[in-house]
Parts: sequence; structure tokens; C-alpha cells
Amino acid sequence: MRIWAIANQKGGVGKTTTTLSLGRGLAARGHKVLLIDLDPHSSLTRAFGVPLEPVPQGVQELFATPPHEIASLSRASDIPGLDYLCAQASLATLERRSANQPGLGLALQQAFARHGDRHDYILLDCAPTLGLLMINALAAADRLIIPTQAEPLALHGLEGMVRTGEMVERSRKRALPISVLPTLFDRRTRAGNETLKQMQDRHGARVWEDAIPVDTRISHAAGLTQPMQGDDYPGRGHAAYRRALEWILGEDGRALEQEAA
Ligand code: ADP
Ligand code: MG
Repeated sequence: MRIWAIANQKGGVGKTTTTLSLGRGLAARGHKVLLIDLDPHSSLTRAFGVPLEPVPQGVQELFATPPHEIASLSRASDIPGLDYLCAQASLATLERRSANQPGLGLALQQAFARHGDRHDYILLDCAPTLGLLMINALAAADRLIIPTQAEPLALHGLEGMVRTGEMVERSRKRALPISVLPTLFDRRTRAGNETLKQMQDRHGARVWEDAIPVDTRISHAAGLTQPMQGDDYPGRGHAAYRRALEWILGEDGRALEQEAA
């Protein structure tokens, strides 16, 4: 089982869209995939058509005493092989409510260990807040995927997220490879092209050499939870996400080889 955390301390950079697109792509390749919504705003949960009232069972229950099991909380989507686990608005105050419960930083990791190999991939759609949920995700992850808008104002958020990933890597003493995915790219703008170049200069091979273009055909998140029409959705945006997945799988394979060596 491989666990990928999709995170950026900035909102609106394509985290949820990336989680859905990569998850669909993995399922299309025949993998068993679980997407976990770790954002109290519940965009991923809503994309699967789950009403927020009554409050669905989900992530919160992994932090209960005793914790529930992932298998009893996850739901099957309409896409074969793609399961998901809901977020709840109350996740926003989880940290405050559980201040005197030690060891909660590893709750997710422990839940995944108990879950075993029921899924081949678990993708974590993180909230832009650096708190208990993000720390849980990074502690458990085999890879940190940072979607980042290809525009100057987003560079700062990218730096912060890379630093956070490196900090977690040092404290847990296990490699946390980083993949930076430029998103919402408009190749007609000079700012977009210059930002892309800056990211590549600064972060080298960690950055995907291509970028996910702005494409209205992927802007409707709920569409991404519907079964594919024919082979897959048409359009440049979806095609770019398929190439991005190829790249990440290649990087992941190399990282696994290094771990084994
Ligand atoms: P985050 O999870 O980081 O907040 P989202 O994935 O929700 O970001 O994306 C923010 C908004 O941008 C959403 O409305 C989404 O549909 C839209 N969006 C994301 N990626 C693209 C894209 N490549 N082209 C067009 N719209 C996009
Ligand atoms: Mg989101």
C-alpha cells in the first residue's frame, strides 16, 4: 500500500481536483484506491454527492477512543475500485477538543497499519491548515504531492509546504519524497511561464516538467466522481493529469527501489 498526501498550505491551488484526478487514474489502471477527505470544508465529500447534513461518518471517527476502522467508514464510489472517506466540519476543532489526548499525531498512521493492504493506494486530500490533520497526513505519507498554482503569489506557499515536508522527514527519520505539480497553468501569460521556470530552477527534479493547464472541463469536481465515458474524459486538462500520474508513478517506483537497496 502506498500513501500519498496531497497538500499545500494555500487554498484554491487544485488539491482536491488533483486528489480526484490521480485517484481516478489509479482506479482506471485497476488499482484499489481510497481517497480521504481531510479538509473540514469537505469539498471532496461533496464531490461524491454526500450531503453534509446529517453529518456523515468519516475521518473524525479515526480519532475517537477507541477509533473506528477505515473499512467500516469508507464508501464505494460509482467508479469501480475507487472508495472514499468523508470529512466533517467538526474536524476544524479536533485539535482543540483533543488537546489532552497524547499520541494523536499518529492516529492516521495507526489506522492505516490496522487497515493493512485492502487498498493499493490511499490519497489524502489535506486542508490548507498546518495542524493536527496535516501532521497526521505527513507522518503517514510515503510521498508528499504539492499542487501549486503557476503564478507568482503561489511561490511563497510552495516554499512553506516544502519546508514543512522536510521538517517532518527529519523528525520521523524516514524519507518523504516530494513531487511538485504546477496547476491552473495559463501558457499565454508571461507571469505563468516565468513562475514555472522559477519553480523548476529552485526545486529541480522535484517539479514536474509539464503543468496542468486551466481547463473548464476539469473545473466541475462532481464530474470527476462519475464513471468514465469511453476510455476517459476528453480534454487537455485530463490528458495532463494522466501524464502527471505517469510521472509520479515513475518517481514512486524509483523511491521504492532506493528504499529496498
Ligand atoms: P483546493 O483543493 O486546493 O482548494 P480545488 O481543487 O478545489 O483547490 O480547485 C480550486 C478551484 O479551481 C475549483 O473550483 C476547481 O474546480 C478549479 N480548478 C482546479 N484545477 C483546475 C484546472 N486545471 N482548470 C480549471 N479549473 C480548475
Ligand atoms: Mg480542497
